[in-house]
Order: sequence, then C-alpha cells, then structure tokens
Amino acid sequence: MASVLIALGGNVGDVRATFKSAISHICGATQAVLVARSSDYRTPPWGEEDQPPFINACIEIETSLDPMALLFTLHRIEKKFGRDRANEKRWGPRTLDLDILAYDNGTIHTPELTLPHPRLFERAFVLVPLAEIAPNRDIGGRTPHQALAGVPTQGIERLGDLA
Ligand code: ATP
Ligand code: CA
Ligand code: CA
Repeated sequence: MASVLIALGGNVGDVRATFKSAISHICGATQAVLVARSSDYRTPPWGEEDQPPFINACIEIETSLDPMALLFTLHRIEKKFGRDRANEKRWGPRTLDLDILAYDNGTIHTPELTLPHPRLFERAFVLVPLAEIAPNRDIGGRTPHQALAGVPTQGIERLGDLA
C-alpha cells in the first residue's frame, strides 16, 4: 500500500458537500483507507484572481493503485462532480480539482503526471491544510511545516466542521 497525499479544491457550487461526497468516492473507487482529512479552508484565488474564493482541503489515503491509475480515477471523479475541462480557463473557476501531491516518496516526471506536485511548495492554500495532517512528512527533502514559513498565509480562513 502507498501513502498518498491529495489536495482538493473548488469554487463553484456547494464545494464542502462536494468534498464530503468526493472523498467517499475516492476511497470507494481506489479501495483506499482514509488515513487523515484536514479541515476545509476558505482561500483567496491564486493565479487568476478575478473569481470567487476557493475551498481547499487535503487528505491522506492508503491505496494499492499505481500513480497513473490513481490520476485517471481522480479525473473521473472530478468529471462526476461537474468538472468540465474542455470549457475552463487555467486556474479558473471549477467545481472540483483533485491533485496528487505525493505518492510515497516517489518521483515521476511525465507529461501526464509530475510527483511530487511541482507547485506544492509555493501554495499556501495547499500547505496550510497539508501541515494540519502531515506537518513533518518528507516531500522531496522538505516538509510542509518548513515550507509554510516561507509563504504568505493571509486571507486563509479555517472553516468549522459541518453539522
Ligand atoms: P495545477 O497543476 O497548477 O494545480 P490545475 O490543477 O488547474 O493546475 P489541471 O487542469 O487540473 O491543472 O490539470 C492539468 C494536468 O496536470 C492534468 O491533465 C494532469 O495530467 C496533470 N498533472 C501533472 N501532475 C499532476 C499531479 N501531481 N496531480 C494531478 N494532475 C497532474
Ligand atoms: Ca490544482
Ligand atoms: Ca488538477
């Protein structure tokens, strides 16, 4: 079994409800065990600033799917929750984005999949939830806790548990 960190994001629709259901689908479709789930955070948009705030969270799962099969499965789940890749802007509004942040301590560089995720360490909206569940995990020689010290976190707000 591999320990996999996944980032969830979205800013269209009832994103927190989407996350809850998407996490069940991820575990079902990958026969994974959910090891940890961060809180949900409201975060300012990144890359394309003229859009509503995002909700972000991170999970850790244990799965025996290989990385490419996992990516394929995550894309299928994004689509199920209304993601329409054919009609969207890069870093623009979307119902659900599922990125693989790390797969064990594996390194992959292909056009379809880069691991660890190449922009992970510059994004507070990933590092804040990730530091909640895996502060000291070694990801390519750095930890979320260390990396957080170097990125601005203003505007990121932890949301309370859903009833
Ligand atoms: P970013 O990658 O900067 O977070 P994004 O999530 O908005 O941007 P998408 O349009 O969702 O980008 O994905 C573009 C492509 O990125 C996907 O088709 C996928 O093949 C590729 N990709 C490469 N590495 C990863 C990874 N670690 N996790 C998810 N997708 C990845
Ligand atoms: Ca992304
Ligand atoms: Ca993505």
